[in-house]
Amino acid sequence: MISLVSAGKVLWVLHVVAWYALRRPFDRRARKVNLKVDRRKGADTARLAVSLAGLGIIPAIYVMTDQPRFASYPASSTLFLLGIASGILSLIMFRLTHKALGKMWSVSLQLKQDHKLITTGIYKYLRHPMYTAFWLMALTQALLLPNYVAGLAGIVGFGYLFFSRIGPEEAMLQEAFGEEYSRYRARTWRVLPYVY
Ligand code: SAH
Repeated sequence: MISLVSAGKVLWVLHVVAWYALRRPFDRRARKVNLKVDRRKGADTARLAVSLAGLGIIPAIYVMTDQPRFASYPASSTLFLLGIASGILSLIMFRLTHKALGKMWSVSLQLKQDHKLITTGIYKYLRHPMYTAFWLMALTQALLLPNYVAGLAGIVGFGYLFFSRIGPEEAMLQEAFGEEYSRYRARTWRVLPYVY
């Protein structure tokens, strides 16, 4: 029998691969559209690097080497099952956001030529649903990997990107869309209805 620890690692890898496979076709299409506004400064590149370390590099090291060993704790089947549920939810959410945002998507703080404000699909209910998907991805990692450092690195790494980027991102959209964005902002939650 495969141990719960190994099963969690395998699922974490599959989750990351599925995530990449969902993004790739959109990434290729979105990159073909020219930019009108580019606020990818050092600060945003640093945010992306921290997030990548937390969601990718640190857990990958754990999956391959079990390091850091001192931070490991016994795996739990309850957490494992919750991890599967949150992993599925995160993939569904990630797919919905790409479907709605389409070519308006970019990896950094950028606006495309003829950028449109998307307020349909999942964006009708939330104004940062892709970040909701990333929070779910970080939660999935914490539930699947029974190691305090590797498990929680995603929440810390993505949390840093999220809390430091959301202000500048909304300011950029506010500047570009004015009244339209104010109205959209007034009727939507950021990532979790009734909470934030
Ligand atoms: N924060 C959003 C999008 C992340 S992708 C989410 O979590 O779903 C980042 C880019 O998406 C930003 O550079 C911005 O240009 C663009 N963007 C964010 N919200 C948008 C919206 N409602 N309509 C169109 N583009 C948007």
